[in-house]
Amino acid sequence: SKVPSISLNNGVSMPQLGFGVWQVPDDEAAKAVGTALDAGYRSIDTAAIYENEKGTGQAIAASGIAREELFVTTKLWNTDQGYDSTLRAFDASLDRLGLDYVDLYLIHWPMPSKGTFTDTYKAFEKIQADGRAKAIGVSNFLPEHLEQLLGETSVVPAVNQIELHPQLQQAESRAFHARHGIATEAWSPLGQGKGLLEVPTIVAISQKYGKTPAQVVLRWHLQLGNVVIPKSVTPSRIQENIDVFGFTLDDDDLAALAALDEAKRLGPDPAEFEVV
Ligand code: NAD
Repeated sequence: SKVPSISLNNGVSMPQLGFGVWQVPDDEAAKAVGTALDAGYRSIDTAAIYENEKGTGQAIAASGIAREELFVTTKLWNTDQGYDSTLRAFDASLDRLGLDYVDLYLIHWPMPSKGTFTDTYKAFEKIQADGRAKAIGVSNFLPEHLEQLLGETSVVPAVNQIELHPQLQQAESRAFHARHGIATEAWSPLGQGKGLLEVPTIVAISQKYGKTPAQVVLRWHLQLGNVVIPKSVTPSRIQENIDVFGFTLDDDDLAALAALDEAKRLGPDPAEFEVV
């Protein structure tokens, strides 16, 4: 199962499906990421706050896979926003990963009332200009935060990574991103595996194709053009979640899935979240 890539707004290629490692402890991350790399994943999504950049880097080193075949994303945590602190935090992330560049560096949350995301992003622009991040972007930015950032900086973010799944379809953000050439990356693409995978509409479609509910949900994302980063530490699920390129949902399925939107957030509201 070969994962297709999308072309980001600066020409960098990004696999449309990757492996997320939130809540994977550092001492289990090397094993989980190793399993994912063996299963064919080439994109890994970590963050400083996940405290597993070290294990992730160990798996990358142990894999023997050429660096240019991998796509590694990490994120700047809230406490490190600001120009100088961002440069220091980025050095520390690279060091823990054991890499000399990342493919994508993201501002984890906008924290709009702190007023620091623009200075933070200016440091990101320097990091990219120095060749230490192939692409830069943001996470959890609402359209109003992106509007402000676009007005105050030069490099259009390549990616906005936001909570997105069939019960939170994010039409407004997706349309904004499309207008500005920003790729939409879905976090918690499986709705964290809670109720979503038991929704009768999804179960019925999964039975129609002989696939699992998780595979149907991932297929929905891919057909919408989203980048997805499902997480699992279970080898059979890690394999299942990348085996989504051999079937196609039809228009009726897509219409049925479109009707599941209920603006249901599992995570925090980005306008409010300022936890440090
Ligand atoms: P997810 O939607 O990927 O769900 C993961 C959970 O679903 C697993 O823990 C497991 O319980 C279940 N699951 C996985 N595969 C399954 C399968 N095939 N069948 C049945 N159940 C299955 O949730 P997530 O981990 O929250 O999100 C994915 C990634 O997104 C994270 O690991 C992280 O990299 C990223 N993320 C980013 C942010 C952010 O603020 N930028 C926030 C949350 C997550």
